[in-house]
Amino acid sequence: MEVELKEMLDDLQSLRQSLSDPTLHASIDKLQSCVDHLTHLAKSVPVRRSKVKDMSAEVVDSNPYSRLMALQRMGIVENYERIREFSVAIVGIGGVGSVAAEMLTRCGIGRLLLYDYDKVELANMNRLFFRPEQVGMTKTDAAVQTLSDINPDVVLESYTLNITTVQGFETFMSSLRNKTFCPSKEGSGVDLVLSCVDNYEARMVVNQACNELNQTWMESGVSEDAVSGHIQLLIPGETACFACAPPLVVASGVDERTLKREGVCAASLPTTMGVVAGLLVQNTLKFLLKFGHVSPYLGYSSLKDYFPTMAMKPNPQCSNAACLERQKEYILAKPARDAEAKAKMEAEASTAAADLPLHADNEWNISVVDDSGLESTGGTSSDALPEGLIHELPSADEFQKPPASEALDTGIVDLEDLRRQLEALNAD
Ligand SMILES: [Zn+2]
Repeated sequence: MEVELKEMLDDLQSLRQSLSDPTLHASIDKLQSCVDHLTHLAKSVPVRRSKVKDMSAEVVDSNPYSRLMALQRMGIVENYERIREFSVAIVGIGGVGSVAAEMLTRCGIGRLLLYDYDKVELANMNRLFFRPEQVGMTKTDAAVQTLSDINPDVVLESYTLNITTVQGFETFMSSLRNKTFCPSKEGSGVDLVLSCVDNYEARMVVNQACNELNQTWMESGVSEDAVSGHIQLLIPGETACFACAPPLVVASGVDERTLKREGVCAASLPTTMGVVAGLLVQNTLKFLLKFGHVSPYLGYSSLKDYFPTMAMKPNPQCSNAACLERQKEYILAKPARDAEAKAKMEAEASTAAADLPLHADNEWNISVVDDSGLESTGGTSSDALPEGLIHELPSADEFQKPPASEALDTGIVDLEDLRRQLEALNAD
């Protein structure tokens, strides 16, 4: 762009020289100052980084992935680069969803599918991610704008729709089924769905879609008073689905929409939302890259800094038909699962039994000393000091040595003696 503007300036200059009528020079000067201004603006436009073909572990300041690939070197993650193969769908790009999307983008996730029907408002500025100049844009478009600047390697798909409408639900389902990104993938076209919506109705829609597609998903939520939140892992058939244990209000048959009081607005804090988004993406990374423990449920109560955890089994009387079907499949697959677990345990046992040194790379030459050798010296091995050195304090062994039985008797005699002396004193 700067080159074109420079050419335009040169053309204007030659045009000015060729004009014999000096009254026209003023217009040319005005045009020239406009082009100057544009050149200045073009220089201030941030430079976007180019795409990176492979994730490199090279430790240089210009490598956007060096700190992430270090997780592999530190032994936390076996193969970090696998993250590029994964697709994650985020439903609801609000206070939690947008931050989760940014975290996954910075982690170099392969593909993100973003769903929201709302627009950015000034009332959203107490949260992270969106900026005032994005007010009026759809949340999905604004997110794509920011995320593609942060990491152009991530494939971004934006869906400006309401999943609770018939049309929206159909598009949602077909986008989850689409396998063009990774045709060899089993099941649906995404590896995980993250629900970051703020109402029960939308959660039930995500639950329905995931139960139908046998799709693992994670649920997240922040309370209306902004001081607590939770994340939950839902594996159809294996853990409780969202309809298995509905919240009390819904179970008692009250329409959620009637609960929303006119003129009363829910509170929100960037802190609680940031914490919940962090917990959600941490669980996502552990689930996708297979490290650590993936929490089935993790709560966060900020007033007491309390993090409750629990696990919930599916309800055999769940009202969701697709959930019941997945439960049946899960029970039927039990023998295969047990056989697989047994084979894995046996393989691990045989590897451990193989005559391999426990620590092949004994960098510090640490060796194990036989205890019996120490005992034979009467527990005084610490007395063996190099020539010229003496102990300042009695050795611990000496201190803890139990007193001999005679000494004990003497002690009792001494006490008796003391008692007599005291009685004599009192008598005076
Ligand atoms: Zn269920």
